[in-house]
Amino acid sequence: MSVWVMRIGHRPQRDKRVTTHVLLAARALGASGAFVDTRDEVLEENVRSVSERFGGGFSVKTGVRWEDVAKSFEGRVVHLTMYGQRLEEGLSKISEGEDLLIVVGAEKVPFEVYERADLNISVGNQPHSEIAALAIFMDRLTAGSALYSDRGGKMTVIPEERGKRVEERDP
Ligand code: SAM
Repeated sequence: MSVWVMRIGHRPQRDKRVTTHVLLAARALGASGAFVDTRDEVLEENVRSVSERFGGGFSVKTGVRWEDVAKSFEGRVVHLTMYGQRLEEGLSKISEGEDLLIVVGAEKVPFEVYERADLNISVGNQPHSEIAALAIFMDRLTAGSALYSDRGGKMTVIPEERGKRVEERDP
């Protein structure tokens, strides 16, 4: 299974921190890469720099229309929205090994996204955040398996009760 994230409605000035965190959460929780609808080279550079240091092959592409990404995607399109079906119900419709494109919004999400999505899934029925929704969805999808997986990075954080232990490796 490979999981990709499509972030729509990104406004480079206003959303830079939130979108960066959407992408970093996607990477940390096991996604293969992300698409962002508005071109943002600074965002691309920031996320690539994390991947370069901490490993993994997370790909980032900005300035791409969600319609085009969804059209060429060979897998299922999952839209995370508080209006969607219950999380456990949605997850039960996803088969093991299936590739997913997970769409998350910023402000108003166009109605066409709800229609195009193969599955509209909620993470609770309260409004919250795209970062929280994506993180919970990914964690449930992967049963936590990405949290401490080895990314083979130049830097690896070694979990410890206290202190900050980082192992450095030659690339
Ligand atoms: N009001 C907007 C709309 O048209 O749906 C959503 C704004 S919300 C701040 C931004 C994004 O967070 C949404 O597009 C959705 O992807 C995600 N989100 C927020 N609450 C959610 C929930 N309870 N379940 C799933 N996704 C959620």
